[in-house]
Amino acid sequence: MAKLYTRPQGTEDITPARIHKWHVVEGVVRDAAERFGFSEIRIPTFEKTELFQRSVGDTTDVVQKEMYTVTARESTFTLRPEGTAGTIRAMLQNGMLAEALPQKVFYILSCFRHERPQAGRLREFHQFGVEMAGSASPYADAEVIMLGKTVLDTLGVKDIVLNLNSIGCPSCRAKYQEALKAYFAPHREALCDTCQERLERNPMRLLDCKSPEDQKIAKDAPVILDYLCEECRDHFEAVKTAVTEMGVEYVINPKIVRGLDYYTKTVFEFITTSIGAQGTVCAGGRYDGLIEQLGEQKVPALGFGMGLERLILTMEAQGIEFPEAPRCDVYLAPMCDEAKPAAMKLAYALRNLGAHAEFDLVGRSFKAQMKYANKLGTKYLLVLGTDELAQQNGKLKNMDSGEEKPIRFDTPEHFIEDYTEISLSELV
Ligand code: ATP
Ligand code: MG
Repeated sequence: MAKLYTRPQGTEDITPARIHKWHVVEGVVRDAAERFGFSEIRIPTFEKTELFQRSVGDTTDVVQKEMYTVTARESTFTLRPEGTAGTIRAMLQNGMLAEALPQKVFYILSCFRHERPQAGRLREFHQFGVEMAGSASPYADAEVIMLGKTVLDTLGVKDIVLNLNSIGCPSCRAKYQEALKAYFAPHREALCDTCQERLERNPMRLLDCKSPEDQKIAKDAPVILDYLCEECRDHFEAVKTAVTEMGVEYVINPKIVRGLDYYTKTVFEFITTSIGAQGTVCAGGRYDGLIEQLGEQKVPALGFGMGLERLILTMEAQGIEFPEAPRCDVYLAPMCDEAKPAAMKLAYALRNLGAHAEFDLVGRSFKAQMKYANKLGTKYLLVLGTDELAQQNGKLKNMDSGEEKPIRFDTPEHFIEDYTEISLSELV
């Protein structure tokens, strides 16, 4: 039997040893989103199941196979498999779409999908996502793409290619779906079970199938770009022009249809080859029909989701350094029981000054304390023995330079003044 402390398959612990990577990434995405004028939104972890069925779409993998649906008493809910549906639901419910448009929000949240776990594919994963509601302008598409690009550039991610496509609107798609049906019909028997069903209900989904067999069959399928109506074609041209204007290179990838039903017109992915098969780090597009589908108003909207695990995997694979936060400013090493209260008081005074201070809590020997202080990477070390206690002063040792500064700690005031004089600016 598996140990009680085995985490569920497809989940990860982000331990203190790795958390600095997340802090770096989260800091960069927040900062970039805010500079683009997006405000943070926080939404519930679970929503009514119908919300995802209606918005993500009931012919998608996510809804058909991947949702975690829980029943509590008489009610049924689903853990969010993505952030868009809940965010748009929140915008509607909080009247945000009645305010000045566009509304621009971002979020950092966990998503849940019952998938086959592998590198870059988890059952609980994290997304940085943005949604903009209320602009039909191709500049809005470019703006959202540029925000994704800004995050990737700021973090130093290389070898990541912007893939662009347009999947048109329901009117251009109707003709395209017919063409797809005609193309796939002779191959019907060779398709996976899910795709056989999709062939009837939503043939575009076939292009998104992960089965290598089906992908082979789909290789020469008709291309949506040949079926766009004039409005969708003009919009796509304008998006490409705007992106080019910003000096961003892209490839046109007609195979991108996105896994969720609500997309219209522009769809895009930032794809890297650095992390193997799950190389889509950021994916998004326009979903002009979704809000109308959920509420009453027709409000054009768009956004993206960026998988943070995949982003960090990419950075690691590319050898990008994550600056680590300093672990400890001052480590106080009491050498005897009588020195412990003094150590505790001084640590407290230092913390009030804004420094990160720690002292021994497990009764280590002198040698073991020195080893531990080194492990903490402390900048300063203060040994508190009987002499120091008797004289009420000691030596603050700079661990990098070895330089020692005498300090008095008979009163916290003096201690703080002395300390401030020698090193507060270095400490915080
Ligand atoms: P994929 O085609 O890889 O299954 P998707 O189309 O299902 O992706 P989206 O719903 O667009 O993905 O989610 C946006 C981003 O979230 C993806 O580009 C990816 O970076 C990340 N993501 C999606 N599913 C997972 C997962 N199971 N584990 C880790 N990250 C994921
Ligand atoms: Mg998927």
